[in-house]
Amino acid sequence: MFSATRLAFVGALAALALVPARAAECGSDKLGVSRVQKVGVEGGLEVGWKTYRDTIPLADHEVILTFDDGPDPTTTPLVLDALREQCVRATFFDIGRDVDEHPKLTRREVDEGHNVAFHTDTHPQPTLRYMSAAAARADILKGMIAVERAAYGQDFSHGEPDELGKLKLHAPFFRFPGFADTADLRKWFAANNVGIFGVDLWASDWVKMTPDEELKLILSRLEKAKKGMLLFHDNKPWTAQMLPRFLVELKRRGYRVVQIETGPGHGPTEAAPVGWRSETGRTVNSVKPRLEHEPTSVAHKEGGFDVKAAPQE
Ligand SMILES: [Zn+2]
Repeated sequence: MFSATRLAFVGALAALALVPARAAECGSDKLGVSRVQKVGVEGGLEVGWKTYRDTIPLADHEVILTFDDGPDPTTTPLVLDALREQCVRATFFDIGRDVDEHPKLTRREVDEGHNVAFHTDTHPQPTLRYMSAAAARADILKGMIAVERAAYGQDFSHGEPDELGKLKLHAPFFRFPGFADTADLRKWFAANNVGIFGVDLWASDWVKMTPDEELKLILSRLEKAKKGMLLFHDNKPWTAQMLPRFLVELKRRGYRVVQIETGPGHGPTEAAPVGWRSETGRTVNSVKPRLEHEPTSVAHKEGGFDVKAAPQE
């Protein structure tokens, strides 16, 4: 009886065999994703209380996971392994030139259910504020094209777009290196329906520390805030080593992971409590007097720069 019915039956068995395995992998002992939050970027969006007055609304004990400055061939795979082990999805703000070097890693991020969003092409030094508006836009656009090509398979064989409006972005989210935005770029993003992401809480992992120190630091900050969009750097070895334990701790302490997706309209957003002020504004602006007499010499230095000082909390 090698009928079509029998073949269909065998096919169904094969499909069924996959289901329990998957269910076991992502069972209730794993952290998982508790819900998806649609986020609309129409007319622009500026979220993350460290920099902006609004953020993405979260319930008590909900977190959004974000990672900057990848992909890195050594550490990003470890970060992805840790997320996969706990069936968790995150948002990666990748650097274009590194995506060009490691396109398969960026593709893996998408294949495993993560968002890949944008963080410029070169992570300009010290920040985008030290470039002309035109040069800053060009760097951002180049980074976006690199990500779209590698992560989402966009075909630019007929020419790369020279304007943001001509580029279809799969996850239209951008994070400024060092949170150093400019009025011109904020307007440009708003006009092109790109959301600007700051962050609510960070691990200060741009500072070298041990995985234990980082784990203790981020957990103490989270237990104080009880929720928030978190920032890590997937190119930092201490973060990659710390992450599996952090995810287990989230589960143990009753935290839930929210994944963001592009949605219609604008927001939703939640305003900060009365008395809010930008924490990053102070730090980013403090860079200026030291460097403003030598902007050309430092404008394209290699290496990662983010907010330098780790706030004491
Ligand atoms: Zn960065």
